[in-house]
Amino acid sequence: MDHFLYRDGALYAEDVPISEIAAAVGTPFYCYSTATLERHFRLFDEALEGVDHLVCYAMKAASNQAILKTLAALGAGMDVVSGGEYARAIAAGVPGERIVFSGVGKTREEISAALTGGIRQFNVESEPEMEAINAVALELGKVAPITVRVNPDVDAKTHAKIATGKSENKFGIPISRARDVYAHAASLKGLKVIGIDVHIGSQLTELEPFELAYNKVAELTEQLRADGHEITRLDLGGGLGIPYERSNSAPPLPVEYGAMIKRVLGPQGCEIEIEPGRLIAGNAGIMVTEVIYVKEGEDREFLIVDGAMNDLIRPAMYEAHHDIVPVVEPVPGEEPARYDIVGPVCESGDTFAKGRALATSKAGDLIAFRSAGAYGAVMSSEYNSRPLIPEVLVNGDQFAVIRRRPSYEEMINRDSIPTWL
Ligand SMILES: *Cc1c(COP(=O)(O)O)cnc(C)c1O
Repeated sequence: MDHFLYRDGALYAEDVPISEIAAAVGTPFYCYSTATLERHFRLFDEALEGVDHLVCYAMKAASNQAILKTLAALGAGMDVVSGGEYARAIAAGVPGERIVFSGVGKTREEISAALTGGIRQFNVESEPEMEAINAVALELGKVAPITVRVNPDVDAKTHAKIATGKSENKFGIPISRARDVYAHAASLKGLKVIGIDVHIGSQLTELEPFELAYNKVAELTEQLRADGHEITRLDLGGGLGIPYERSNSAPPLPVEYGAMIKRVLGPQGCEIEIEPGRLIAGNAGIMVTEVIYVKEGEDREFLIVDGAMNDLIRPAMYEAHHDIVPVVEPVPGEEPARYDIVGPVCESGDTFAKGRALATSKAGDLIAFRSAGAYGAVMSSEYNSRPLIPEVLVNGDQFAVIRRRPSYEEMINRDSIPTWL
């Protein structure tokens, strides 16, 4: 459920008409709903009621400071995967003890910054990284709390580019080697082993792969305890999928996910951490774009819009589907047209949808890409020298620009000219 609904024939974000935001900031732009962000965070928080837990928002999904502050105010922890994300979490006022550091290639600088600023735990992804964290911690006279990310060799049944839990993926340590790696960790004085971490992929639409992985984690918890390790925290990653197509079957709900977690891992008596990103931000954001031209092709009509693959890369990168809706509500019963919806970038990959049914449209009409809140703005670039598009946050009847559109001059002035030119 989200808060982008038609009211009196016009698309609104909460209590603000999308057309009003478009008039104020120009197109294209991202628009997020505070109520939807908050609702989704609470769904996870409530799903784990009754067990000691922390929901750490995986901020790589959408990392604008205003979004982070919105979630931090509800008590969210943050899952970060770079020094930049760590700095963003701190800047948003999230205390170190609520920040989890994930990612396969943490540098010594990043490790040092997190140990100095405070960190809940590092999720270690390899033995060389474990040694590096130990060395940096010893240098700083600190002890780094760690979990080891295990790779359970489970098929997440999702797009290959976002599956992370098979043995062929670069993530984690093979679960078969976990006991050796934990023994190694326990011998390092700069580390304190506190738990186990797993994350098998993103946009999972079934609970079964999660359950397979979590059963392996339950078994490993018992083995490691028998080996003498204190396992008090289980980080179960993110990955619960969202309904990108309203007309299709819906993925499991957070409450069902939470119930499964309690059933499979409750008996271990550990503190539970989860790291949802997409489900919190995905349906809390849309991208709004304007039709520039309607162009007749040989056998099809193209809707050329002012948003492009540099602004929203998911269709080009993952063959992803986004529902696309007009900002003026279609007249009920009116036969829709079919369009190939494309951006202006000089690549055929800059195609958002082919043969998509949409109300008959004309130049100047506004259309919205739904479910664009996660992995949208954060993956955008200035390819084709198209400045980053603005982000707007709505809260009830108010809206604010939370990242403005840079001018051409600002974009160009980030380059510098060497003295010999
Ligand atoms: C990407 C990622 C997440 C979030 O995944 P979603 O599908 O957005 O929920 C969580 N944990 C880790 C380690 C990740 O890399």
